[in-house]
Parts: sequence; C-alpha cells; structure tokens
Amino acid sequence: MADSIRKIVVVGGGTAGWMAASALSKVFGTQKYSLTLIESDEIGTVGVGEATIPTIQEFNKLLELDENEFMKATNASFKLGIRFVDWKRQGSDYFHPFGVYGVDMNVNFTHYWMRYHLAGGNGDFGLFNPQTIAARMNRFGRMSEINPKAPNVNYAFHFDASLYAKFLRRYSEARGVVRQEGKIIGVSQHPESGDIASVTLESGQTIAGDLFIDCSGFRGLLIEQTLKTGYEDWSQWLPCNRAVAVPCDKISGITPYTMSTAREAGWQWRIPLQHRTGNGYVFCESHLSEDKAMDLILQRLDGKPQGQPRVIRFTTGHRKKQWNRNVIAMGLASGFLEPLESTSIYLVQEAIMKLIRFFPRDRITDSLRNSFNAEMFFAYDDVKDFLIAHYKVTEREDTPFWAYCKHMDIPDSLKARLESFAQHNLSLVKPNELFKEASWFAVLAGQGLMPKSYHPVADLMPEDEFRWRMDRVREGTAGLANSMPGHEAYITKACYSP
Ligand code: FAD
Repeated sequence: MADSIRKIVVVGGGTAGWMAASALSKVFGTQKYSLTLIESDEIGTVGVGEATIPTIQEFNKLLELDENEFMKATNASFKLGIRFVDWKRQGSDYFHPFGVYGVDMNVNFTHYWMRYHLAGGNGDFGLFNPQTIAARMNRFGRMSEINPKAPNVNYAFHFDASLYAKFLRRYSEARGVVRQEGKIIGVSQHPESGDIASVTLESGQTIAGDLFIDCSGFRGLLIEQTLKTGYEDWSQWLPCNRAVAVPCDKISGITPYTMSTAREAGWQWRIPLQHRTGNGYVFCESHLSEDKAMDLILQRLDGKPQGQPRVIRFTTGHRKKQWNRNVIAMGLASGFLEPLESTSIYLVQEAIMKLIRFFPRDRITDSLRNSFNAEMFFAYDDVKDFLIAHYKVTEREDTPFWAYCKHMDIPDSLKARLESFAQHNLSLVKPNELFKEASWFAVLAGQGLMPKSYHPVADLMPEDEFRWRMDRVREGTAGLANSMPGHEAYITKACYSP
C-alpha cells in the first residue's frame, strides 16, 4: 500500500462509476490525483435506475451543472413524488410527495390535520401538500421562476440512465478522468497487506492503483469476488428478488411522478421520460416465474413495448463492509435495496460524499474505514425499515405473496415505530434520517395505518382560529399548485425554447 493516495481507479462505468468519477474529479481535480475509470462495453451496465429523489439536486449543484442542460441531455422529466396504487388494498391510491404537509405551527402540521380529520374534516390529507395537488393535475414549475416569494416546492427527476452515464462521462473526461475500455480478467493483491495492487484487462494491460472504487455492479468484482467481504441478506423482510424491465412508447402527457402499482407477487413501476416510458415488474420468484412475469408486464404497458423484457436478479441487502482494505464499494457492488422509493442513486451519492469527507490525507486508517462503514450502514438501515413498512402495513392478503408480507416478522426498530405512530402520530425519526415525519405519515396513513391520537398542543388553538387557519393553508396549497403550468409544457419551455 502506498504511503499516500495518488492513483484512484474506478472499476465500472454505470451510473455509480461515472457519478464517482465526476464528483472526485470536480472536488480533487486530476493534477495531484490520477483518476482512471475502467468499463467493459461487452459487459455493459444494468440499464435501469431512472427515478431519483430531491437529494440529486445537491449532487448536480456540487458538479455545478445547468439543470436544463442536464435535463435535455438525459431526456429527463420532473418528479414530485410517487403514486402508490393498490398497495393498501385493490382500488386504493395514495401519493408520497417530496416535501411536507401544510405549515408547521407549534408542532408538525400532521397533528393539526389529525385534529381536523377526527373532528370530521376532509380525510384527504393530500389537499395540504402542493406536490400532491400538482401531480394530480399534471402540473409542474420551479417556484424560483414562478413566484420566488412562495415556499419552495421540492422535486427530483426521472432520467434515462444510459444518457446520464454518457453525460457524466463527458463531464469527467473534460476534467481529466482517463476512461479505459476493457474487461478486467485478473486482480492482484499486495502479498502482505492483501490490498488490491492492480487489475489486468483482457488485452493484457495492467492498471495499478492506491485506492479502488468498486462500481462493478452486482458482481462486486473487487469487494466480493476478490476480497470475499460477505453479504448481509435482508430477503426475509424484502422478499422481492427479480425484476423484468421493458421500456414502452410514450403515449400521453408526461406525468410528474413515478407510479408504483402493487401486483400479485410484487409491484410494477412506471417512469415517464420525455421520449419513452420506463416499466418494470419487481417480484418474488418463489411466488411468480420469470416467464409469467414477462407475460404480465407486456399485458400491462400503456404504450407499445420497445423490445423484449429483460430479467434482472438480485438479493436485497448489503456488503458486510462497504469499505474493505483499499476498496470502497458503491452502487450495486455495495448492496441493493429494491427501487420502491428510488433510493439507490441516493445511496451512491451518500457514499461519494462520505468518501470525500473521510478521504485519507496519507494512509488509509481503520478509523476512516470504520467511520465510513458505520455511516453507510446507518443510511442503508434507515431506508430498509421504510421500505419494509410498505409491504407490512397493508390490508392485502389476496395472494400468497401479500399474505406473507402482511404477517411477516419485522425488525424491532420498525415495530417500535409502527406502534408509536399508531398511538401518537410519532414516527421516531432520528436526526440525519433520509425519510422525515411527512414521508412516514404519507406512507403509513396511505397504507391504512391512521394514528389514534396526536400531539396535545394541536388542541390548544381555539376552534374558530383553527378552522380559519386550516382553510387558509388549504387555499394557499391549492394556489401554489394552480400557479404551475402543465408539466410537459414547462419542460419544453425550460429546456428547448431559445
Ligand atoms: P452497473 O450499471 O451494473 O454498472 C457496472 C459497471 O461495471 C459496468 O460499466 C460494467 O461494464 C462494469 N464491469 C463489471 N464487470 C467488469 C469487468 N470484469 N471489467 C470491466 N468492467 C466491468 N436506482 C434508483 O436510484 N432509482 C431507480 O428507480 C432504480 N431502479 C432500479 C430498478 C432495478 C430493477 C434495479 C436492479 C436497480 C434500480 N436502481 C434504481 C439502482 C440503479 O440501477 C443502480 O444503483 C445504478 O444504476 C448504479 O448501477 P451500478 O453503476 O452500480 O452498476
């Protein structure tokens, strides 16, 4: 192992690899540190991963990207949240928006909404969230352009993953990242330390490095195949282990949300882009065969399929160490939480930001590695409980898959949250957790778990003032959504008008 890190090698050129290369080249430059990215055209990328959450805006800001240029280059659309259909029961429909409900008064607004609702007020809490209303009307606009004095309306993007990787490749190469095409067929380790010394390509070329970022996808070429790090398997709680994915022609207006429809053995995504719609069925193979899933998804598209569905196999969980020796795993090489809340690209972003934070000045130490690993485990764990809640809190028992989910044992941390939420409308969100109170409220209440009670402070406001305030909040929320233009018209104007 070198005394100091000079040569950084990124293995893999999917979304994770190019995100890592672009962020590191932006932050560290390529004068002091050399950055090489190896990717194999023959192996290719996983080719899915098109829905994001608002944290992606911070990544774009770090790279100083022009948002409209980025959208044009990746055929992106805006995303205000996820619409969940048939999850609570068949025929049910709720929205998990980015952003909060109403305006917090002395305590979180949802407590006031509970008072309002339990006293017979409208049971549709979506009326107090601008993203939900705009999504229902197919509208979108950045508040900074429409009304800078109005509260911010948070958003993310849907984009074409392969165009995003190309876009970031251009960005990285312009900053000095060297791309090396070729298949890695050999890995050598330092005899004493066991650290990775170099990788060898099919062409015979050897590429040495001090620090390796393993973005090689599910295979985990360095982190698993070489270092045998081990995998923490979460399938007992998140039993889906397959996806069939197929894009189809775009047939109608581009919706500013991802759609997730619960199906007999899992769920189906619909992700609208400017030029096509991405679709996939995530399912549990012991409840549905791959062939049957392919048939079903082809019957359930709203446009002409663009090719045959592709099968993707995975196991939910993560590597027992995300940083092992001189290898840091990112993206699918580090683990996988199914795409129900579009969190994988966010986890790549988290790993990159933590690597920058814990980047060794000289040698890699246990302290740096352990801190990185502890924070990444927290990030994975926090998302895990939120995802499990979608399956567990349901009335559905109509298929063996849903009966399993409804009755499965769940982690103690989630049990405690569900109890606290049911009794007090408190979802026990810890500082730095990704999903805040509003998200837990949207999903748990949307799935049918309505709290029995709420915070006593919400009762202190006199009735007349309370009613008046709730009406104003609702009107203000509707006003924000109504001030937005149609989503597709906005994309055209923002990205394509001179
Ligand atoms: P890959 O795209 O698989 O890239 C691996 C790279 O390693 C490739 O360039 C490959 O050529 C290279 N490589 C591998 N082996 C070798 C070798 N021997 N030699 C040289 N190069 C090699 N994420 C989201 O945030 N939102 C979503 O909506 C979402 N949906 C998803 C749906 C499904 C079904 C799946 C499976 C994932 C989804 N994800 C989603 C996750 C997302 O796709 C990934 O996090 C993201 O694409 C990163 O992938 P990757 O770069 O880690 O791996």
